[in-house]
Amino acid sequence: MSSSTLPPTSVQPLVFALPAPDIGAWRAGNTGTEGVWHFDSGRPGRHVMISALVHGNELCGAWALKGLLDAGVRPQQGTLTLAFCNLDAFDRFDSGNHDASRFTDEDLNRQWLDERIDAANTNERRRAAALRPWVAQADWLLDIHSMHEPSAPLLLTGIQPRNLALARAMRSPEHIVVDAGHKDGVRMRDYGRFGDLDDNGTRSLLIECGFHGDPASRAVAQDQCVRFIEQSGALSADALAQQLPGWRLPDAPRQWALEVTGPVVATSSAFRFVAPYTGLEVFEKAGTVIGDNDGVPVVTPYDDCVLVMPSVRQARAGVTVVRFARRRLL
Ligand SMILES: [Zn+2]
Repeated sequence: MSSSTLPPTSVQPLVFALPAPDIGAWRAGNTGTEGVWHFDSGRPGRHVMISALVHGNELCGAWALKGLLDAGVRPQQGTLTLAFCNLDAFDRFDSGNHDASRFTDEDLNRQWLDERIDAANTNERRRAAALRPWVAQADWLLDIHSMHEPSAPLLLTGIQPRNLALARAMRSPEHIVVDAGHKDGVRMRDYGRFGDLDDNGTRSLLIECGFHGDPASRAVAQDQCVRFIEQSGALSADALAQQLPGWRLPDAPRQWALEVTGPVVATSSAFRFVAPYTGLEVFEKAGTVIGDNDGVPVVTPYDDCVLVMPSVRQARAGVTVVRFARRRLL
């Protein structure tokens, strides 16, 4: 069957071109917590943390952390923590079946409530317990992810204005997602102090660098590390440019804030979009049909509606398959 005869919403296999990094040299960490590295400048400053592999098939962040470690990057002020998070899931990585290594028991990025972590009744909750002291001590957190589908990078700020201001100061990527997270749990970037609405000095961002298997996702992860570290004050722009040549990419030509208004939740695995959307599509008119939720049409709720991260690859009852957003220029 040629691809032209497939219905337009069929899930097509994607080429996974980004190799898995060998993180063997950096796996142990230097903290007593496997995969966690912590460097202290001995000078006052922020506690800055960058995390990768919260999902085991999201390799771009592991490449970036390996690059920071290979380059011997050390903070000039404050502290820098680098964490390879879901090592057990990453160990199962297979580019031919990469979704299977997203987690082992359950999504590590939904467990960031103390009662879930303390329950310690799944592999991911036990790992969250080991990582929790590092997340709790961090003032600034950049959590690096990648996506099920090819897409432009998205920087997720949560609903805290202070994080949106940081995204603007970083001047990249072009698309900033202002969202309240997920009903089925709490993300690392929303844990504890990061979730407060008032400016308590913390910042937390989640960068979605593009498709998991796209080599460009690695370059995006590296660029975001440089921008985030520079804004944090842990290292100067000059020091970063010297130690990480080629990591900083051009600034985005403009930045859009995409304010998420709500999810579309599949009622079954039969959910289908009416076209192969990849995200950031804009629909001029409210009421445009974009999908079929097991027989129920899914329509855009307002004019100039944007689709954020559509994907049916994990579709089943209760799973978010796309989110709607309003957009405005920053
Ligand atoms: Zn992820």
